Amino acid sequence: MKLGDLELHALTDGSFALDGGQMFGVVPKALWQKRLPADDRNRVCMSLTCLLVQTGRENVMVETGIGDHFDPKQIDIYGVEHFTTLPAELAKLGLAPEDIDFVINTHLHFDHSGWNVRRQGGKLVPTFPRARYLVQRGEWEHALNPTERDHASYIEACFRPAEAQTELLSGDQEVLPGIRVEVVPGHTRNMQCVRIESRGQSAYFISDLVPTRAHLSYPWIMSFDLYPMETLAAKKRLLPELARQEAVVVFPHDPTVPWVRLMEIEGKIATRSVAD
Ligand SMILES: [Zn+2]
Repeated sequence: MKLGDLELHALTDGSFALDGGQMFGVVPKALWQKRLPADDRNRVCMSLTCLLVQTGRENVMVETGIGDHFDPKQIDIYGVEHFTTLPAELAKLGLAPEDIDFVINTHLHFDHSGWNVRRQGGKLVPTFPRARYLVQRGEWEHALNPTERDHASYIEACFRPAEAQTELLSGDQEVLPGIRVEVVPGHTRNMQCVRIESRGQSAYFISDLVPTRAHLSYPWIMSFDLYPMETLAAKKRLLPELARQEAVVVFPHDPTVPWVRLMEIEGKIATRSVAD
């Protein structure tokens, strides 16, 4: 997709599955299963969407999927289906790992930082040898010392071996002209979203603030969120603004579409397909 002078590609690292109750928080199953049906283990299937932004000079990779850190038992628990992988998707575009200039991790949960590193001869090395990896300092520190409540979401081996290439950010920052990270607390204290603007057009990688289209509804908030009331406040602030701009919103986990265009119709937030 073209966005002004930029080119956006929604890539996927395959799919995985999480418990539906964890995905929808206080929303009862009677409601959420109409939007995303559960499998026989009560899991909902989700995508592992990553966003490649091409400026013409630089390639910016937002998120790196789930990677290949899991043993067969974990692959079964998390329903990982690698019908494709992020490196394979890049190769289809004619890009090698060396072509990536920036990697932005919105946060360091294992389903967002998996291909930060890869296996090479029994060692873990940065997948993208030339890239500068951009992570919020608070997220990095928390990921190395999570609480009992969220330690299952972090795998140090996903991100630690790329430490020498990692730059720790403190707050909002412009990465390249038209590409900004913005801290949006809620899912974690220091999660960052990515705002992309070119020639009056906007896109927003919304990360786990709104993991799927179903979560556009304000009370649909994951039970994983450490600060759910801050998630709610951020949704009420950001979504009307993005709708007014008719921004393209990129979801990390929607199983059907990677992105939609938000709109405002009679004061309400509506969506339309990006192809229209
Ligand atoms: Zn996620």
